[in-house]
Amino acid sequence: MYYSSGNYEAFARPLKPEGVDHKSAYIVGSGLAALTAACYLVRDAQMPGANIHVLEKEEVAGGACDGLLVPEVGYVMRGGREMDNHFEVMWDLFRSIPSIETAGVSVLDEYYWLNKKDPNFSLCRATEKQGQDAHTDKKFNLSDKAAMEIMKLYLSADEELYNKPITDFFDDEVLNTNFWMYWRTMFAFENWHSALEMKRYMQRFVHHIGGLPDFTALRFTKYNQYESMILPMTKYLESHGVQFHYGVKVENILFDITPNKKVATGIEVTRDGEKDTIGLTEDDYVFITNGGCVENSTIGSQDAPAAFNTEIKPGGGWDMWRKIAAQDPSFGHPNKFCYDPEKTNWMSATVTTLDQRVIPYIKNICHRDPFSGGVVTGGIVTCRDSSWLMSWTINRQPQFKSQPKDQCLVWVYGLFTDKPGDYVKKPMRDCTGKEICEEWLYHLGVPTDQIEEMAENSCNTVPVMMPYITAFFMPREAGDRPDVVPQGAVNFAFIGQFAETKRDTIFTTEYSMRTGMESVYTLLNVDRGVPEVWGSTYDVRDLLNATIALRDGRPFDLDSLNAAARPVVKTVLGKLKGTEIDKLLVNYHVIKPEDIPDKTIGEQVKETIDTKIDTEEIKKKAEDNKKVIGAAAAGLAVLGAARILRKK
Ligand SMILES: Cc1cc2nc3c(=O)[nH]c(=O)nc-3n(C[C@H](O)[C@H](O)[C@H](O)COP(=O)(O)OP(=O)(O)OC[C@H]3O[C@@H](n4cnc5c(N)ncnc54)[C@H](O)[C@@H]3O)c2cc1C
Repeated sequence: MYYSSGNYEAFARPLKPEGVDHKSAYIVGSGLAALTAACYLVRDAQMPGANIHVLEKEEVAGGACDGLLVPEVGYVMRGGREMDNHFEVMWDLFRSIPSIETAGVSVLDEYYWLNKKDPNFSLCRATEKQGQDAHTDKKFNLSDKAAMEIMKLYLSADEELYNKPITDFFDDEVLNTNFWMYWRTMFAFENWHSALEMKRYMQRFVHHIGGLPDFTALRFTKYNQYESMILPMTKYLESHGVQFHYGVKVENILFDITPNKKVATGIEVTRDGEKDTIGLTEDDYVFITNGGCVENSTIGSQDAPAAFNTEIKPGGGWDMWRKIAAQDPSFGHPNKFCYDPEKTNWMSATVTTLDQRVIPYIKNICHRDPFSGGVVTGGIVTCRDSSWLMSWTINRQPQFKSQPKDQCLVWVYGLFTDKPGDYVKKPMRDCTGKEICEEWLYHLGVPTDQIEEMAENSCNTVPVMMPYITAFFMPREAGDRPDVVPQGAVNFAFIGQFAETKRDTIFTTEYSMRTGMESVYTLLNVDRGVPEVWGSTYDVRDLLNATIALRDGRPFDLDSLNAAARPVVKTVLGKLKGTEIDKLLVNYHVIKPEDIPDKTIGEQVKETIDTKIDTEEIKKKAEDNKKVIGAAAAGLAVLGAARILRKK
């Protein structure tokens, strides 16, 4: 497997790998990583679909990418996916997956046209004091010291960041800014999470820094991601004869491990309560989704909290990984991620509005009509003074094809589930759907005497608890996640959020899909480049743009330098005059045009020569200095010799 970029490889079709017709694949899980592996096995490795088996413990495909109408409970979306135009693997695949909405077009076409016609941006990023605009006004509000802390992390080598939390790099100077409020609510980072992953995120999305405050950086699917992404993929795979096996729990994978070779030899499963082992040869590949961010997640209802159930049981992603990891050090360290659910949980809730009473409060904040069919909030709105650190979002409606036209689906989430609410005075994890809705209505600005009645009769709210949702953000080091294809592996790969691939960022659809593609290309020797992670961190234009965006548009201020530094910087800038660098710095607003000295470097050199330096004087001073140094050296030598003689 190798990486590439550009059009040459992007549109090329690989040749069929030798002998693939006689090989088969077993894929553990049916999340995005697993479905992507299956799609690449079909499209690029050209394996017959009937040879591919997807083993899923649940009764439905999709894993974390869900969207459900639970009978008697209501609509539930555990999450909503913010996405990027530079999800290179995702678009490489979705250009080939037929839309299930419109005949003859791909999922990529559908998504591209939608986001072109109706681009995403937010008109209110944060509120405070019960529904009032917090007027963050697209500002990051970073001081120079805060900017230096961010810069230090950005430039630190990975090894420097191993096992360290973000707070080792950021203090209140960063943590109390709009920057951190935007960042942690958008990506669900907590202060104690991994500095290494924080750096990866900043580098991965440096081209989007300017678009963070108002979400112009983002794109969304038409419906929830189960309907817009998972269903087209499963339909594509089924049309190629891929075999889906639901309700199959994989308890363990067995390996034959010798110093230079690791072979998966069996898959231990429980099916309908019966244990079984699927035997494997070297021609049977296994793709393992280890761990899992939605493992142990539970659903409550309008009148019941979602249980905080942290117990790890056999047949789930974590227990399976622990059993696998016990067999070889290169299979990773699950306990680095899954050991303290207090540090890795948060909750979401799906509110369905049942009448029109809440709608004016929504409109008042997002300044758009939720029923227009277009962008509504344009990303999350954070209630900045909420003790749960609550955010909410309304994506294009309807979010479900089956959704009644006069109902609006709102996704609400809170990062601190153990803190009492500002209105309900209870921790989010103890709240029923109705109580979570009350807290949301309070922050929306609904008069307090109407809140309870509106939460009861005008909304239906379904809470979800996810104890391990940010397990992948826990501080880590190299080797804690197994490589997609570990050294010496012959017929198996790790895929998903807990497999290691270079430079990409976890908690993204792209990360899971990338591991799926890389696993197939490596194991089956597919001879075509895997698109590299978008290289904006190596693009000086993106770096300059981000630098100035983080300074809220302020160019470099020469006057802020001390008297000694100013002439030095002036000289450097003078040397750049008339070069491409001069143009870049001015065009990207890093410096003001008037800060470039009038004279070019050539003119300055000429001026220096013309300033008739008295070379004789300089020579004389150098000779005098030489004499002084010589005398001092001789003196030291004599002293040293005398000391040695005395010792003897
Ligand atoms: C709340 C939330 C918000 C998100 N927001 C965003 C976002 O804004 N942008 C973005 O890009 N991404 C986002 N994501 C991330 C993205 O959705 C996930 O990273 C991705 O869907 C994970 O896919 P996966 O295949 O790696 O793992 P999963 O989806 O977890 O799939 C694993 C599958 O394996 C099955 N499985 C596990 N163990 C076993 C076993 N032992 N036997 C059989 N089956 C097993 C599971 O049941 C599951 O179906 C979000 C996710 C969530 C949950």
